[in-house]
Amino acid sequence: MEAEKAYQWLVERGKEVAYLGAAASLLGWDQRTYIPAKGHPHRARQFAVISRLLHQLTTDPKIGEMLSVVEDSPLMDQPDVAANVRNWRRDYERRTRVPERLAVELAQAESEGESAWAELREKEDWAGFVPYLEKILSLKKEYAEAVGYEAEAYDALLEDFEPGERAERLEALFAELRPALVDLLQKIQGAPRQPDTSIVHRDFPVEAQKALILEVLPQLGYDLEAGRLDPTVHPFATRITPGDVRITTRYYDDYFNAAFFGSVHEAGHAMYEQGLPEAHWGTPLGEAVSLGVHESQSRMWENMVGRSRGFWEYFFPKARAHFPVLADVGLDDFVFAINEVRPSLIRVEADEVTYNLHILLRFEIELALFRGEIGVRDLPEVWNQKMEAYLGIRPTAYKDGVMQDVHWSGGLFGYFPTYTLGNVYAAQLFAKAEAELGTLEPNFARGEFAPLLAWLRDHVHVHGRRYTPRELMTRATGEAPRAMYLLRYLEKKYSALYGF
Ligand code: ZN
Repeated sequence: MEAEKAYQWLVERGKEVAYLGAAASLLGWDQRTYIPAKGHPHRARQFAVISRLLHQLTTDPKIGEMLSVVEDSPLMDQPDVAANVRNWRRDYERRTRVPERLAVELAQAESEGESAWAELREKEDWAGFVPYLEKILSLKKEYAEAVGYEAEAYDALLEDFEPGERAERLEALFAELRPALVDLLQKIQGAPRQPDTSIVHRDFPVEAQKALILEVLPQLGYDLEAGRLDPTVHPFATRITPGDVRITTRYYDDYFNAAFFGSVHEAGHAMYEQGLPEAHWGTPLGEAVSLGVHESQSRMWENMVGRSRGFWEYFFPKARAHFPVLADVGLDDFVFAINEVRPSLIRVEADEVTYNLHILLRFEIELALFRGEIGVRDLPEVWNQKMEAYLGIRPTAYKDGVMQDVHWSGGLFGYFPTYTLGNVYAAQLFAKAEAELGTLEPNFARGEFAPLLAWLRDHVHVHGRRYTPRELMTRATGEAPRAMYLLRYLEKKYSALYGF
């Protein structure tokens, strides 16, 4: 009885935290969409108040006591209870191991680092940025020591984004991807056929883009009665509560891909959040398991579904109805144009093939930093060498090279690899879904996306944080994550498009 009361207390605390977090999410959504310019200073202070409250609620020593009561009881024989308690214990330990002084210093260094990055990047002032990055790196090393790890410090950072993942395993996975991707890129660049990308740079009125997106997303399975689409500068998806999962996008009136595929990407994130079990809202079983698994959902819908020929067999006539400029464009030329592969200096502009090389480069640099093999001052040279080796291009400005991403300045080390893990998971999940459901493109060509979504609901979404990402993948696909499925998918798709 006492254990049951303790468990109920933990569930109630979880819901309180979730609702307070939902308030913060809604404020965050507003801050990135419609807030008036003069609203920012007070909004920042408002966030500080809420995060202090959240910190108190989630590091309360009573949580540790209540967890001990449940852990020593027969309640742990119930799988739902055991899964929630295991995650709560993990989260609680990781939070309470960080000394208050370190948490405050980190928060301050991250916020100063991000502001410095924005300003110094514009001025191309790498030397001025070095001390900020060195400070963050040293605090993050301290953080890794505080939360603890088994093999190496970098694992402690990975654990924040991809629970259970290890640097050593990622090294092996990425070592398999790297030469195959470099080789594929070379084949593509030497291919006889090349796309005419002027097709996607015509006149695409924003209102028509929005109308097409709002026609497409519900058909994929994004529930607009439990969501909405708004414009922003840096697109994102955010769950406020189970009945309110929002996405945002950025429109260009002379470029089709950004808003359309950005929206499908964010809808992939949102459909995952909409598929989490509502009955478990406020507990780990109602939460997304990791950034990698999250990204697997967005990437699958964006690339494997949204950039497939089958998808456009169904949607191209509808797109033409919205955009008269596409009247003289054939389906195959359009599909080729939206799948162009071209090495670029900027990660966020990269295609499916080169994107992973951008991530590999960042992962290798992070690992070398945390293993003490290089220092912050070495970064531009290491960066440029790797760019040249992997993509055959070399930045001439810091803002197009080592200073392009905000992540490191905000302390996000261990985050980048989850992008490529997402692609690896997506290809493996998609292959398994097709093994069970049959080839999916004919479904897409008929406008049928429900079978794929239902499969993802059953094998991924419904589990919340019941399993680690690796366990989840193994249960869903029968094997641990491996590079082969992504490589096979990319080789098949791009050899057909480019004709080699
Ligand atoms: Zn994403």
